[in-house]
Amino acid sequence: MINANTSVEEALKVGEKKCNGCIHCCSFGSAYVLKEEIPELAKNLKISEDKLINEYLEPFELFNTKHFRFKQLRKDLPYGKCIFLEKKGCKIHNIRPLHCRIATCDENGEEINNWFRIKFFLNLEDKESVRQYKEYLQFGKTIPGVKL
Ligand code: SF4
Repeated sequence: MINANTSVEEALKVGEKKCNGCIHCCSFGSAYVLKEEIPELAKNLKISEDKLINEYLEPFELFNTKHFRFKQLRKDLPYGKCIFLEKKGCKIHNIRPLHCRIATCDENGEEINNWFRIKFFLNLEDKESVRQYKEYLQFGKTIPGVKL
């Protein structure tokens, strides 16, 4: 069971095994990209970090923490498909970042997404982050083991 102590390696085992490649999630949204993942992703794409940020990513903030997500191609809707999604699937499948690799639309999807947000967006050393997380808990779900 996913909890606050689940490691990245364990999360990868759950996510990668469960994704059936149906591209549903990538058709109606896009994955988070962590700030620290940008240098390697840009290198693998053979583009500059600035080009990656400006052309392929959009800022995303949660619990007072800023990262990115892949740009969504929106057509009069608040969401859209990921900029790297093609008819046959993900254009950057072999170099996709962690969230792409663990997010699934099966029964574990919500739990693993919550794990990702808690691990990478909740900052226990930032009072505002904790305040926003507590506010979120009034309506949102969490995972076991989060100690505030
Ligand atoms: S980069 Fe690929 S796997 Fe990640 S959200 Fe976009 S299409 Fe999906």
